[in-house]
Amino acid sequence: MGQEGRVTLRERAVLTWREERPQREASRLLWQAEKLEKMRGKLAGIIGPEHEIKIGINSKGDITARVEDLRFITYGYDDDLLLIVAKVNCPLCGKDVSLGYVEDLADLGEKLELLEEGYRHECGAYKKLREVAR
Ligand SMILES: [Zn+2]
Repeated sequence: MGQEGRVTLRERAVLTWREERPQREASRLLWQAEKLEKMRGKLAGIIGPEHEIKIGINSKGDITARVEDLRFITYGYDDDLLLIVAKVNCPLCGKDVSLGYVEDLADLGEKLELLEEGYRHECGAYKKLREVAR
């Protein structure tokens, strides 16, 4: 019982991939482009049209956006559930701080204010400042 002439599963899989690769890669890019536009649309809905939004994809494949010194990221790819998380660098220690999900501009403002008041992360630099102020 020779196996000659029979194509193995491994071979079939690789051949199929090679055949479909251009199509797969094209649709992946299209999918990505759609998600980028969704992120842009959703973020513009939150912050308004006045600011330039720079959209990108990070090394993990998450969609990111930058508006001035604020950063945004989305992990949810479900169309209706595109949750946007705001991120900033702490103005005092420079640490990357997540502000959590933002739903609208006031929500973002509240979270930024909380950060300034020292509620969003345990900031060593902020603690020191407060001790000095006492
Ligand atoms: Zn800090």
